[in-house]
Amino acid sequence: MQNIYLDNAATTPIRQEVIDEMVGVMQSEYGNPSSTHGIGRSSKAIIETARKTIANYLHCNAQEIVFISTATEATNWILRSAVKDFGVKRIITSKVEHHATLYSILALQSEFGIQTEYLTVDADGALDYERLVSLLSAEVKTIVSLMHVNNETGLINDINRIGAMCHQAKALFHCDTVQSIGKTELDLQQLPIDFVVASAHKFHGPKGIGFAFVRKNLVLQPMIFGGEQEKGWRAGTEAVHQIAGMAKALALSYDHLAEERNYISDLKAYCLKQLQSAFSEVKVNGKDTFYNILNILLPFSPEKTAMILFNLDMKGIAVSRGSACQSGSIKPSHVLAQMLPDEDLKKPSLRISFSHYNTKEEINYFVETLKNI
Ligand code: PLP
Repeated sequence: MQNIYLDNAATTPIRQEVIDEMVGVMQSEYGNPSSTHGIGRSSKAIIETARKTIANYLHCNAQEIVFISTATEATNWILRSAVKDFGVKRIITSKVEHHATLYSILALQSEFGIQTEYLTVDADGALDYERLVSLLSAEVKTIVSLMHVNNETGLINDINRIGAMCHQAKALFHCDTVQSIGKTELDLQQLPIDFVVASAHKFHGPKGIGFAFVRKNLVLQPMIFGGEQEKGWRAGTEAVHQIAGMAKALALSYDHLAEERNYISDLKAYCLKQLQSAFSEVKVNGKDTFYNILNILLPFSPEKTAMILFNLDMKGIAVSRGSACQSGSIKPSHVLAQMLPDEDLKKPSLRISFSHYNTKEEINYFVETLKNI
């Protein structure tokens, strides 16, 4: 049986060069980066080189990059510190954010009674920018938490515009860039964003490692105590091999960005064309979506809907219904619930997400398999 992986928004296969890099580090760089001897200093040097590499590709200062285990952890930390340490009294977010953001905010609401405003999206998935302007006109210490690319639909928020609005209103701006870092250029020197979070496993790097960008002069307080690592913000011995692997993965993603983006965009267009010729009533969820995510609504009966992911899985095809954490569950996606009418929510929506490792042959097999369900 073939294995066809079309779930690259959930996670991505690690590039061989990244594996080689990590194995090399694991074999020879076993020192504790906090040790003052040469073996320790050598590990420390790997971490600092990785920090510079990442900062170079994102056009920021190395000191603004903080290594952390996951984007979920980074988002929890930033939002919590904004409330506890910056005196933020209000969070503006949207109903289609990742649960890392939504659940962090719910926890802050119950612990600190923080005021929360949720922006909605229209049927195409476009954010209500007008409401954001109007909310920002109130004089309340605010952090805005809005993502760049939506992980379920691929919808893109105009982060430059949001950042400019926040800047003007003196609100902080936290942006979940998990789906866009490594897949599109980000110039953090130009973009008016205070905090960015990223996760290596989304750009062909290892799992369990990510980073936060924290703009210079913003001094957060730690969420984890116990050591001086990462300026004391994130105590605990650093995962040297994972950090090295993440920097390598980001460098390769940006070095190959132009060609891989073209390739993946073509593949997505090809997939949509094949789907449209197989199912005349297929609909795309969201308008003007990111080049590696295609979220479609299939005109299937309720009986077929229940079994669709199972049937694809039996044929070796990995796609997702909504987001990964919801696949297999019967709850409709919280993102699509904002965009689709009830009758469409009962039909199957699939998220197909591509990488440069996918081929047209795989797409043909996927569409043929869907036809036979
Ligand atoms: N934000 C978005 C948009 C995501 O897609 C994900 C991963 O699914 C996360 C946050 C969480 O990232 P991590 O796996 O690093 O915790």
